[in-house]
Amino acid sequence: MMVPPLSCLLDGVNEDGDVAILRLSLTCRVFHDVVGEPSFRKKAHFAWLDSVVNWSISDHKEMYRVSYKLTQCLWCGDFFKDFPPGYFGNGKKGILRGFYAVKEFDGYCSADCFISDGNHYSPKDN
Ligand SMILES: [Zn+2]
Repeated sequence: MMVPPLSCLLDGVNEDGDVAILRLSLTCRVFHDVVGEPSFRKKAHFAWLDSVVNWSISDHKEMYRVSYKLTQCLWCGDFFKDFPPGYFGNGKKGILRGFYAVKEFDGYCSADCFISDGNHYSPKDN
């Protein structure tokens, strides 16, 4: 089987977002290994960030053009994308979900895990 160049895989991930990584990794062993590489994930993440933010008119490139890290949830043990304050989305080209200045569930993958571990959650916007 012919292995497509890395740039093709990156384009696919940049068009379709995180779901493309899962799809590719299920396609074959070679893709699985490539898209599982932290360096590939990083490239894909920055390609996405660059597609949603015009950095040349942004004063915050240093602060917000940063990679996520994988953190293990304190409750369920799953690894999740842990974002520093900054831009957030599902990795789809040109699509931005929002900007997060604070982390609501620091150390947890979701509100469910946060609450299950005995923390109290009170939404700020009421
Ligand atoms: Zn969790």
